[in-house]
Amino acid sequence: MRMYDVILKKRHGEILSDEEIKFFVEGYTKGEIPDYQASAFCMAVCFSGMNDEECASLTYHMMNSGDTVDLSAFPRTADKHSTGGVGDKTSLIVAPTVAALGCTVAKMSGRGLGHTGGTIDKLESIPGYRTGFTPEEFMAQVGKIGVAIVGQTGNLVPADKKLYALRDVTATVDSVPLIASSIMSKKLASGAESIVLDVKYGSGAFMKTPEEAETLAEKMVMIGKIQGRKMCALITDMDKPLGRNIGNSLEVIEAVNVLRGEDTGALYEICVALASEMVSLARGIDHVEAEKMVRDAIADGSAYKKFLEWISAQGGDTSYIEENRLEVGKITREVKAVRGGYISYMDAEAIGSAACMLGAGRLKKEDVPDLSAGIVLSAELGDRVCAGDVIATLYTSDEAKLDAAEKAIIESIGIGDVAPESRPVVYKKIR
Ligand code: URA
Repeated sequence: MRMYDVILKKRHGEILSDEEIKFFVEGYTKGEIPDYQASAFCMAVCFSGMNDEECASLTYHMMNSGDTVDLSAFPRTADKHSTGGVGDKTSLIVAPTVAALGCTVAKMSGRGLGHTGGTIDKLESIPGYRTGFTPEEFMAQVGKIGVAIVGQTGNLVPADKKLYALRDVTATVDSVPLIASSIMSKKLASGAESIVLDVKYGSGAFMKTPEEAETLAEKMVMIGKIQGRKMCALITDMDKPLGRNIGNSLEVIEAVNVLRGEDTGALYEICVALASEMVSLARGIDHVEAEKMVRDAIADGSAYKKFLEWISAQGGDTSYIEENRLEVGKITREVKAVRGGYISYMDAEAIGSAACMLGAGRLKKEDVPDLSAGIVLSAELGDRVCAGDVIATLYTSDEAKLDAAEKAIIESIGIGDVAPESRPVVYKKIR
């Protein structure tokens, strides 16, 4: 078989066989197929697409390009994945809540890059929290308390590491079959039997419209089901940041407020929706029953108790949480509304970039973020404000960063004469 012929076939819009896809994935992972042929292949997929069988086959061979995690020793394993967003701290809330209800959450998460944050950075803002477990430590903790979140261990899906880096520089990221196989190969390799996907749409997301998000979600659900997993996807709004806090320690603080039952806004609702699906799939129970269990676990304190147990098991000093002492940037500035009216838009991507300017994120992989920096929004989409009202507070450790971030926030929060239409937290559910 020649890679040239595989590329040509896809360029002509023909359907590739499982053998041809396997040849590409294995050859590229081993370094036998060069980057220029792999990028031509990805570009051909961008233009010609892939049918369900091709997509499932690409995912399967990517999943098997490296190690896979075996969670079969644990009961009711459930995982979630978000396609990324600004202020998305749902894993911090959902993982202990689901674990408090007798499911197992053995999760590997990533770091933030650009305008989106990463769960691992957020957790590292808790003094002592260890994200670099060995596979043995990871398994032991999962067995003992039913929940662990660590950085990626082992050699999981090396095909995706190479391909994603290549796609990033060849304008081939935003292709549904390539995104679906990239995300699902990692989720499947991580081993959970039930998987809930939070597929975002809007200004801060990959997919700009709910319809595009739905197409991606359907592909991923199909791929997971073919591999025998229990699947569900929620299509959710990322046209505005999720919750009010953006930045690592600030997001942990907001997550803790939800777990303590002190915040029952949109963030709470989306976490209830995600956790309910995980519990419903993993326990094989009706969604309404699962939702009641989730709300009760937050209201009666068992989700928060499990959170503290988990953080402590991973070395985190829970006194910082219990005594509300997590470090936030010492240098602050209030951003005020320049006119009166309704908050008419909040550009999630631009707000995420402003948090990055304050030091909260990375522009390049090697950057070290300031875990105490970020933004607290004090107005929500649709709120009525008067000129001079505080709409956001900036937190940083470097005064020089304030002016640019303030300007970015003013430009990214629109104030108009009419309130925007409110949108549901979950646009659609796909099972
Ligand atoms: N996230 C991934 O992991 N892969 C993609 O292709 C896009 C987003």
